[in-house]
Amino acid sequence: PSQACAEARALVASAHRITVLTGAGVSTDSGIPDFRGPDGLWTRDADAGRGSSLQAYLADAELRRLAWRAKLDSPVWTARPNAAHKALVELERSGRLRTVVTQNIDGLHQRAGSDPHRVLELHGTLHATVCLGCGATGPMRDALKRVAEGEQEPDCQRCRGILKSATVSFGQELDGEVLRRARLAALDCDVLLVAGTSLSVQPAAGLVPLAAKAGAQVIICNAEPTPYDAVAAVVLHEPVGDVLPDLSSVPPSGGGRF
Ligand code: NAD
Repeated sequence: PSQACAEARALVASAHRITVLTGAGVSTDSGIPDFRGPDGLWTRDADAGRGSSLQAYLADAELRRLAWRAKLDSPVWTARPNAAHKALVELERSGRLRTVVTQNIDGLHQRAGSDPHRVLELHGTLHATVCLGCGATGPMRDALKRVAEGEQEPDCQRCRGILKSATVSFGQELDGEVLRRARLAALDCDVLLVAGTSLSVQPAAGLVPLAAKAGAQVIICNAEPTPYDAVAAVVLHEPVGDVLPDLSSVPPSGGGRF
């Protein structure tokens, strides 16, 4: 193992409170493409992000119909958790991982077995819908069933408003309570383990300098450099599917019990 790996293992071994921040890179091994990696959706098609803005979604009925049709075929519905998700479940069982803050909307941390109460979905979830008119929420499954049965755009069954996945689009605010808890988790950890994120989306990326300023040791594991590599104690440009299982198998230093 590299020197950087050994340093990361030592940090994890002595940590009592670990907060994890994940991004699309932890789910690429599950068959869900990221946005900005080499094979990312936006790397291949610079215009693909257009439909991700709330304004465009509200203004353009054709875009909404395309979005619903595309959702039927989303890789998320068949994806299974991979070694990276499972490693974080192991780390949680060791009693040291307090919170998983994720930018992912695929629900794979919970499916792998992470305690749902410890997972903070900063950008919402694809597994639910929300009405942009009355705020009613419901299972995505129900809306997709209607699309599969031929409805081009399922509307809200309560108020006939525009329905959207319960994900945070560009131009949309994050859930204030989720963000508040994520910031607390960044402030109250001795190690912040960052995995599979380009750290190019705010306010999520801002959790990294926040934790560092509060005294946490930051470990960044990402295939490519990130804008916050300089504040990290250790940077690992290696696959998360190798690094996270390696780190989660580290026994606590001194053999202490929790
Ligand atoms: P991003 O695409 O900007 O960055 C992902 C990073 O992970 C890239 O730098 C890439 O090089 C790296 N990476 C990919 N596979 C890796 C691997 N196996 N090992 C190590 N590194 C790997 O993603 P982001 O930072 O999460 O931001 C994108 C936004 O898009 C988020 O806000 C998120 O909500 C959304 N998104 C979510 C999903 C999902 O839920 N799975 C997928 C795509 C995008």
